[in-house]
Amino acid sequence: MHAHSNVSDGTETPADVMASAARAGLDVVALTDHDSTSGWAEAAAAVAGCGVALVPGMEVSCRTDRGVSVHLLSYLHDPLHPGLLEEITKAKESRLTRAERMVTLLAEDYPLTWDDVIHHVAPGATLGRPHIADALVAAGVVADRSEAFASILTSRSRYFMPHYAPDPATAVALVRAAGGVPVFAHPVASGRGRIVGEQTYRDMIDAGLAGVEIDHRDNPEEGREFLRGLAARHDLLVTGSSDYHGTGKPNLLGENVTSPEVLARIESQATGTAVVRP
Ligand code: AMP
Ligand code: FE
Ligand code: ZN
Ligand code: FE
Repeated sequence: MHAHSNVSDGTETPADVMASAARAGLDVVALTDHDSTSGWAEAAAAVAGCGVALVPGMEVSCRTDRGVSVHLLSYLHDPLHPGLLEEITKAKESRLTRAERMVTLLAEDYPLTWDDVIHHVAPGATLGRPHIADALVAAGVVADRSEAFASILTSRSRYFMPHYAPDPATAVALVRAAGGVPVFAHPVASGRGRIVGEQTYRDMIDAGLAGVEIDHRDNPEEGREFLRGLAARHDLLVTGSSDYHGTGKPNLLGENVTSPEVLARIESQATGTAVVRP
C-alpha cells in the first residue's frame, strides 16, 4: 500500500513497479509517488499484463507549524480536485527552488553541479533529496542513498533546506474533499527526524484521518505500540507496507502487507477514483 516509481524518487518506471509487484507475489499494490499522480496511467495500463491490481495513490509531503515533517498517504482521490492539486503543485515548485539552494550550498564543499542532479531526475518527476543523493553517489562522495541520508542530507544537516508543504490537518481535509482516504505514513519514524506529538494526531483525526501505517520498517516497536492504542481508541484503519523505492532503498515489496479487510474498508470510503483490477 506504499510504493514509489521514478515519477518521484523510486528508480523503476510505474510499469516496472507493477512487474516487480507481480514477481514479489503481490495481488495488489498502491503506487504512492510523492506529491504526484503522473504515474497512475502507466501503472493502470500494466495491470492486465502483470495480473496485479493497482490502488492509485499519492504521498503528500506536509509540515507542522513546529517544522516537523509528516507524510500523508492518499488513496483513491480525484487527481483533478483543485484544492489538493493546488497544494501539491506549490510543493513541487518549491521543491525545485529548495533543491537548487541545497545544491548551491553543497557545491561549496563537494564536487556537485545542478546538471549532475538533474541527470538523475526523470522528466516531470517530483524532485527530492534522493536525487541529490544519487548525484553524490555518482561523484563518489557517498556509497549509496542511505549513506547520504545518514550524513550530508539528514534534516539535521547544515545543507538541509525545507520546501513548502501544507499543514497535515489541512492535507487530510483536502484528501477527503477530493474523495480520497488519508492514512498517516510511518508516523513514528524517529530515524528520519522529529516526530509529531498528540496535538497533531488530534488535529489530523478531527480533520478526517482514516488510518495509520503501523507495519513499516522505519516505525520502532515502542511507537507501534502507541499507534495500536491510538488506532483502537479512534477506530483508525491499520496498514502495513514496504515503501518500496526500487534500488533507491533496501525496502522490498511485500516486506509488510495490509489485510484485504482493510483494503475493502479503504475502498468503501473512497469516492475519487477506483481500484484498477486485472
Ligand atoms: P525530501 O522529500 O526531498 O525531503 O526527501 C525525503 C525522501 O528521501 C523521502 O521520501 C524518502 O523516501 C527518502 N529517504 C529518506 N531517508 C532515506 C534513506 N535513508 N535512504 C534513501 N532514501 C531516503
Ligand atoms: Fe521517498
Ligand atoms: Zn514517506
Ligand atoms: Fe514513501
